[in-house]
Amino acid sequence: MSALLDEQRGLLEQLVNPQRVRRAGRTFWCGQWAGQEVVLVLSKVGKVAAATTTTVLIEAFDVKRVVFTGVAGGVGAGVKVGDVVVAEAFIQHDLNSAPLFPRYEIPLYGRATLDCDPALSAALLAATHLGLAGVGDHFHRSLLLEAPVVHRGLIASGDQFVCDPSAAALMRADLQAAGHEPLAVEMEGAAVAQVCHDYGVPFAAMRTISDRADAQAHLDFSAFVTQVASPYALAVLGQFIKHQ
Ligand code: SAH
Repeated sequence: MSALLDEQRGLLEQLVNPQRVRRAGRTFWCGQWAGQEVVLVLSKVGKVAAATTTTVLIEAFDVKRVVFTGVAGGVGAGVKVGDVVVAEAFIQHDLNSAPLFPRYEIPLYGRATLDCDPALSAALLAATHLGLAGVGDHFHRSLLLEAPVVHRGLIASGDQFVCDPSAAALMRADLQAAGHEPLAVEMEGAAVAQVCHDYGVPFAAMRTISDRADAQAHLDFSAFVTQVASPYALAVLGQFIKHQ
């Protein structure tokens, strides 16, 4: 599952015998990649849209595993533009049913964070290292970025594009006060994690850091997606699929 069309384009070119299926206003591409049956789809943006996409993937296409690649804002210390975060768990930073439930807790789930599948995430982490090593340094150099660092940890999702440093700092401080240390912020992952949790389908996710969730966040977003995040997603998933 990809968040943006540009990120999906390179993946689509890898599909052997691609079949286009329309469901719920979404286009699903079924085919083979490195001998594996795969379905490629855009999540659409935001938690509800991503939850619908995931539900259709599982119910209509019977997928056995879900892997997400996309971009995110870096909010953790030392998480810089061009780095990659492989998710260990997700939380919804905009979920607050207090005083009925503790802040961030998903009502009736008894928990705030949902873990990614450890084995699938370990495979995605290994593929991320191999993929980034394979693409070399011309992608990050094209935007004058330092060599990417791969992080592992918590990603926070919410229905906001965070592009204000004080909003990002407040979000992080509030999460920290509740015992959570987010590395990145985006708009879909926690929803995909929740649907996969409900169905018992293993889920893993990687996000390339496109911005620092500050006032510069919208600048050069599409250049970054085209020049860095998309080749990274392709390289990482190419390694991932080879080792499945
Ligand atoms: N310009 C795009 C929309 C981008 S929405 C279009 O026209 O289609 C932003 C996407 O990047 C979402 O998928 C979200 O998950 C991710 N993202 C990147 N940086 C983010 C930030 N600072 N805050 C929230 N989401 C972010």
